[in-house]
Amino acid sequence: MSHEDDEGDLSDGQLSDGTAIPLLANVGSLGNVQNALAKGAEGVGLLRTEFLFFEEDVAPSVEEQTARYREILVALDGRKAVARTLDAGADKPLAFLPLGKEDNPALGVRGIRTVHKHEQLLRDQLESLSAAGSAVPSDLWVMAPMVADATEAEWFASMAREAGIRTVGVMIEVPSCAVVADQVFDAVDFVSIGTNDLTQYALAADRQNGEVAAYQDAWHPAVLRLIRMVGDAATASKKPLSVCGEAASDPLLAVILVGLGVTSLSMVPNALREVRSTLAKYSLEEARVLAAIALDARSAADARSRVRDALPRSP
Ligand code: PEP
Ligand code: MG
Repeated sequence: MSHEDDEGDLSDGQLSDGTAIPLLANVGSLGNVQNALAKGAEGVGLLRTEFLFFEEDVAPSVEEQTARYREILVALDGRKAVARTLDAGADKPLAFLPLGKEDNPALGVRGIRTVHKHEQLLRDQLESLSAAGSAVPSDLWVMAPMVADATEAEWFASMAREAGIRTVGVMIEVPSCAVVADQVFDAVDFVSIGTNDLTQYALAADRQNGEVAAYQDAWHPAVLRLIRMVGDAATASKKPLSVCGEAASDPLLAVILVGLGVTSLSMVPNALREVRSTLAKYSLEEARVLAAIALDARSAADARSRVRDALPRSP
C-alpha cells in the first residue's frame, strides 16, 4: 500500500532491507482514529480506553462501552486495533472509580491493580470489547496496563480469553515485568512496552514531577537494557513486540528499538511521517549495530551522542 497526498508518503513502515515495521497510532477518541488514518497509521497500537470515559460519573454500561468500541472498529475497517483496558489511577484519575488518597499514587493502585478489587469492571469491559469485535469485521487485540509479573499476566489472559478475546497481551511498563519477560510471553500472545512508565520506574523519577523531568529519558542505557530483555524474550517466543510509549515517536530511538527486537511501533499520529522516513534509511543489521552502541553508553545523553556519531555522514 503506497500513495501520496498532503501528508506526503503514506506507505507502510519498513526498513531499507524490506523488513516490515508496522507503524500504528496512539489514540483516545474516534476523532483521533480518523486523524491517525489520514496521517497514514496502519492501525491503532494503543487505544487508551480510559480516555473514552473520563467524563462519566458512573461506570459505563456494557451496552454503552460496546457502542463506543464498535464505532472505533468500524472506522478502522479491519485494520489492527490494540485496546488497553482501563488504566485508571495516578496520572489518569477516573471519576467513576474513586481510589482514595495515596502518598505515592504512581507506586500505588493503578492500571490492572485497580480491578483486583473491582473485578466486575474488568469483566464488563472485556465483554464489551469482545462483543464489539465480533459485531464488525475487525482485528482486535486487547492488553492490560501495569502488569507486574507472569502470574498477573496469566490472571488477565484467562479473564480475557473467558470473555472471548482472541488476541491477548500485556503492557510491559513495570521493570519487574521486563526482567521476567520470558515467563510473561508464555502467558500471552503479544507484548507492548510502555516506555513512559518503564522509564519513570527504572529511573525512580515521577513522570508528573517537573523537578525530575530530566530523568524521564528512554535513551537511558538502563531502560534500553530492560527493553533488550523483552526484545530477546519476544524473539525467542516468536511473538509480536510493540512499543507504544513516547520513545516510539523519536525517529532515531525508533531505529534503536527495532534493533533491540521490537517488531512494531505505535505513536502520536504527527510523528508517523518522520519515523517512517528515518526507519527506511536503515537495515535491521544496521539498527542492531546502533542499538549495541546505545546499550554501552553511560547516560541518556551519552547514548544519543554515541549513536549520532556512528551514523553515516550525509555527503
Ligand atoms: C506508557 O507508559 O509508555 C504508555 C504508553 O502508557 P501511558 O503513557 O498511557 O501511561
Ligand atoms: Mg503507562
